[in-house]
Amino acid sequence: MCLHSRFETMKKDKAYKCIACGQDHLDKDTVGINKKLIGENVTSFYCMYCLADYLGCEVQDILDKIEEFKEEGCKLFS
Ligand SMILES: [Zn+2]
Repeated sequence: MCLHSRFETMKKDKAYKCIACGQDHLDKDTVGINKKLIGENVTSFYCMYCLADYLGCEVQDILDKIEEFKEEGCKLFS
């Protein structure tokens, strides 16, 4: 039906916010990689920067991981 209203519903669905620095509107890749690396049942999320810090790696490493998972067809990133 109306695509626009569907997007509106999705946006309101849940506001993902970084628990470390408070950055909000985390995108689905960020949320996906949190689930992938920390656990699918996580209820709190980190932004890319805080996640890299938490894991002791570089942001670029995480971006590479996301690409890897996407290539594998991981549903968390579809
Ligand atoms: Zn953060």
